[in-house]
Order: sequence, then C-alpha cells, then structure tokens
Amino acid sequence: MPAYSNRLEGLNGGGDDGWGLFYRARAMKTAGEPVLELTIGEHDIGTAPEILDAMDASARGGHTGYAAIPGTTGLREAIAKRLRSFADLPYGPENVLVTPGGQSALFAAHSLACDHGDTALMIDPYYATYPGTLRGVGAIPRAVPTYPEDGFQPREADLMAAAEGAKSLLMNSPNNPTGAVYTDATLDGIARVAKAHDLWVIADEVYDSQVWEGVHRPIASLPGMFERTLTVGSLSKCHAMTGSRLGWVAGPVEAIEHLTNLSTHTTYGVPGYIQDAGEFALSQGPEAEAIVAAPFVRRRAILLEKLAGQQAIKAIPPAGAMYVMLDIRATGLSGKAFGEALLDEEMVAVMPGESFGEAAAGHVRVALTLPDEIFAEAMDRLFAFAARKLAA
Ligand code: PLP
Repeated sequence: MPAYSNRLEGLNGGGDDGWGLFYRARAMKTAGEPVLELTIGEHDIGTAPEILDAMDASARGGHTGYAAIPGTTGLREAIAKRLRSFADLPYGPENVLVTPGGQSALFAAHSLACDHGDTALMIDPYYATYPGTLRGVGAIPRAVPTYPEDGFQPREADLMAAAEGAKSLLMNSPNNPTGAVYTDATLDGIARVAKAHDLWVIADEVYDSQVWEGVHRPIASLPGMFERTLTVGSLSKCHAMTGSRLGWVAGPVEAIEHLTNLSTHTTYGVPGYIQDAGEFALSQGPEAEAIVAAPFVRRRAILLEKLAGQQAIKAIPPAGAMYVMLDIRATGLSGKAFGEALLDEEMVAVMPGESFGEAAAGHVRVALTLPDEIFAEAMDRLFAFAARKLAA
C-alpha cells in the first residue's frame, strides 16, 4: 500500500483533534438520548426562508452551472460594501475572493502567506481547527498564550517575542472560544508586531456581527495594515447560513489574484445559486444580522444571571461571539474531565477548554445555541453539577 503524505497524516499533530466529546454527544443523541447540546457554533434557528427563496429562484432561474471562480461581481461587491461599513477602507469587488465557507478561506489565506516549513503564529485559546489548518498548508503553528486575568487579550511583548522568524499571525476578534473583542490597545500592539516582523495578519472576523460590548474594529483599518492583512469572513454566523458554506478572503488586489488562482486549482468556485442567496442575504442590511444575533444576547444574560448566584464557576462576560468560557478550576477538574462527567451525569454537552489550546485548560466553552428555556435548564444542571464537584 502506498504511504500517506506526512502532511495529512500529521494534520492533528499526533494528538487529539479536540472534537471527541462532541462526537460522543452526537452519537448519544443519534441513539435517542436526550442530550442538551451546547457544543459547536450552530444556531438553533435555520437560514431565513427569504434567503432560501432567493436560493431556489436562482437555481430554478438557471444559475446551476459553473460560477465565476473568484465569486460573482454582485456578491463580491456586496461583501466589499459590508467591509466598508465597518471602516473607511478601499474595498471593491476586486479585493474579495468568495470561498466555500470561512474555514476554506483560512486555509487559502495561509496558503498564500506561508511556504512549507514557515512558522505561523496563532493566539491561544484558538478555534479548534487552527493548528490543523496551519499544518495543512505545511506551516508550523506557534501558539502565543493569553490569560484569563487579561480577559484573554494577547500581550504585545509575548507576540513580539514569538514573531521572531514567523511569516504570519492569525488573530480572531470577536474571539471563539473566549468571547474577547480586541481593544484598541491590543489591535495597536498587533499592528506594531506585524510591521516590525513583516508578518501577514490573517484576521478571522467571522463573528463581526456579534459584538455585545465595544465595537468591531477591523485590524486592516489601522495605519499600514491594509496591505498586509487578509480578512476572513463568512455568512455562517451572521446569517445562520452554516450549511451553505459561503465565506470570503478580503485583501490587496494582487493577493486576491493569487488566491483566485488557488481556487481555480482547488474548489473551482462556489455554486452560483448559493452566491445569489448570499447576495440577497447581504442586501437585507445589518437589521437582518441583528435578528440572527439577538438570541445570543438573551442567553448571555441568562447565563450571567445564574453565574452571579453561585461560587463554583467564574467567567469573564464575553464581549462578543456566541459562546461563554467558564472557568471551572475551583472544581479541581480539567475541562475534559468536567465535560465528560457533565455529559454522563447531566446529559449536557459542552466543549472542554483543552480543545481550544493549553491556555484554555481548566475551562469549558458553552455555546449559546439552544432555545432560551432549554438553555436555562441546561445551565441549571451545569451549575448544580459544578456545586456538587466543589463540595466533593
Ligand atoms: N473561524 C472561527 C473562529 C469559527 O468559530 C468558525 C466556525 O465555527 C469558522 C472560522 C469557520 O466558519 P465557516 O467555515 O462556517 O464559515
């Protein structure tokens, strides 16, 4: 039998890919067990019917053949317009590559920034796919830890030290899993590091419509950053279109030309009827995005209220995104042990912090993704469980 490539065999770095508890919870649900699942970032609402109507009309209207590889001009312009709404930046359609989801945009952006063997920085805790994505393009991930006592904002000095010899820096604000929204001081620090070490910054902004405190400030808008930033976005989170696989990379025109070339040799573009649905979704403006985001605001409040009435768990109120990181260190359990036992004893599934890097050890991540009453019930069970462990 021929050998597999080292790159793919080593994609998970030889360890756990962090999704074990999620798969176990899904298997239990499939077997009919009443698991309350708060694992991945999947809305409990589906894609809006009007968006599906637009998709249907486009497909029936004949947009089922090969679509323009970098994306339709209409969608690229709609994305550019949305990017311009956050900051005064010169985005036009030529600055945007449409991709099948934000995940493939992350892969594409790193393919452009890194050669085989290059060091790629990522900030820990991180979205669970990051290390595998970086290894997938042949880069070597270097994690820069952040700390709960800093609200998980990265420290400039740590980034500066880690950036020696690196090619890229992957940042994510609003952040999954921590809910941190990077402050102006953090963004200024990242920009200084990027310029000092001539890094590409890959800015994962897929949660830009979900900011509960402060504002979303794109790193590309800082002086000297537009030309070195590849911004990753997606309609998954802001329009509950996770299954449509529609995302983008935005950046300098030449970078987009290279990425279009990559798309020609990998995905060959995104289905036209999905793109038309995305263009329609964006035409609905920020009001439509606010409707999709509203349940997370309510559930964040439910969780924070319950948190206030107990001792076992601490949390930094998330400034954005659709999760809350709970600090469960007082129970003496690891995030993984807590998550596994919570699933066994209470039928509630959350993600172990360790799935998101060493800096999230002793935490679990709760996704705000069940209807309010069920979510409240799941949180009651979780807090009761934690109180039992604290007392034990
Ligand atoms: N980036 C972050 C931080 C995420 O949390 C996710 C999904 O959960 C993605 C990227 C990928 O999203 P998609 O590929 O659905 O656009």
